[in-house]
Formats: sequence, structure tokens, C-alpha cells
Amino acid sequence: MDLEKNKKEVFASVEEACRKAGRPENSVNVVAVTKYVDSSTAKRLVATGIQHIGENRVDKFLDKYQVLAAENLTWHLIGSLQRRKVKEVINYVDYFHALDSIKLAKEIDKRADHVINCFLQVNISREASKHGFLVEELNQVLPELEKLEKIRIVGLMTMAPIDAGPQDLSEIFQGAKDLQKELQRKQLINMPFSEISMGMSRDYKEAIAHGSTFVRIGTAFFK
Ligand SMILES: *Cc1c(COP(=O)(O)O)cnc(C)c1O
Repeated sequence: MDLEKNKKEVFASVEEACRKAGRPENSVNVVAVTKYVDSSTAKRLVATGIQHIGENRVDKFLDKYQVLAAENLTWHLIGSLQRRKVKEVINYVDYFHALDSIKLAKEIDKRADHVINCFLQVNISREASKHGFLVEELNQVLPELEKLEKIRIVGLMTMAPIDAGPQDLSEIFQGAKDLQKELQRKQLINMPFSEISMGMSRDYKEAIAHGSTFVRIGTAFFK
């Protein structure tokens, strides 16, 4: 595993996707997802010049945090979070990408000692197996979330199905982008909706073409 080379390739490819989309090269934040590797490998990757680090599970997040807390990184919890685990982890989190229920938001609000930047996870593809709010639920959800002082909704997060073809990807990512813009225009309290978290190793180029501002990349760093 040549981490230095993989890192260069991923960042060059993200920059190229930005250029192709007519976007500034620094308009996309790359979250390096370290869930496949141990803390020492994650540390070696960080040494190649990583700012954003992401984990999808609480136990692995805490493992990495223990070893890398001094590195001045931005910490992302990207996977679904059980309510009973919130208190173990939330105060180490800078960005939480998978806010998918009001009950979870209330627990975060109760346990957090700083404002947590959250992405609302939306199920644009309407896959039954996927987490996230359906679009039509948001009118009811947003006023509830507006009341929670420790929750700042920075944007939307979505995932495309594993078997999505180019046309599906385009529809899902554009659907998420259009929704983000619509919500941003509402200027809700504590909800800038300026960001969008979409794109993984297999589909980040398409996500960037459709306006993603945070891509969550694992496999491509550790091949
Ligand atoms: C694992 C994971 C990723 C990264 O996926 P890769 O295909 O390895 O790039 C992104 N987002 C979430 C929520 C994940 O769990």
C-alpha cells in the first residue's frame, strides 16, 4: 500500500473533477475514511497531508481519536449513530454526517458541550434499506430541529445505491443539490445548508460534477 501515491492520486483526481465542473479546486473537502485500517496506518496516511478524517462507527472513531487527537485534524463521524452511543463520542466530533431522526438530534443536543455541525441525511433514492429522511418529511422535521441550540445543520448528506448507473447517479446527486439550494434559500435559524456531503470512492467524480462540497473517500486511499 503506497499511501503517499494514493493520496496524491485521490487529490489530483478531485482537483480534476473540480476543473471539469468549472469549480475552484479548493471547493471540495476530502474526508479520508479510515475504517478499513488500524490507527498506525491511519496515522501514516495523515502524515501525507490529510486535514479531514472520518469513521463510520463509534468504537473505531474512538480508537483513531486516541492515537491522533494531537494532530489538529477535523473529525467526521459519517455513519449512523445509535442514541445510546451519543454520549461516548459526540464531544470529539466536528461534523456528524448521518443525522436521520429527531430523537437522535435531541440526544445530541442534550449531550454536546459545543455546537455540532450536522448533515441531514436524506434518502433521495428512496431505497427501503437506506437511512435518512424522505424529502416529504422535511417540512415537519426542520421546525423541530430549529429549536435545538447545539445542532447546526450545515447541509445535506446522501448516498447512492451500490448498483446505481450513471443516469441514476446523476438524478440522485442533482436531486440532493437542488434540495440543498432550496433549503439554503429558506434561511432557517442555525441551518446554513451551505454544504453537501456526497460521493465515495466509486462515485465522487459524479458527486463533484453535481456540486458536492464534502466527499467521503476510503477504498481509494487504501488499495
Ligand atoms: C465507508 C464509507 C464511505 C467510504 O466508502 P469507500 O467506498 O470506501 O470510499 C463513505 N461514507 C460512508 C457513510 C461510509 O460508511
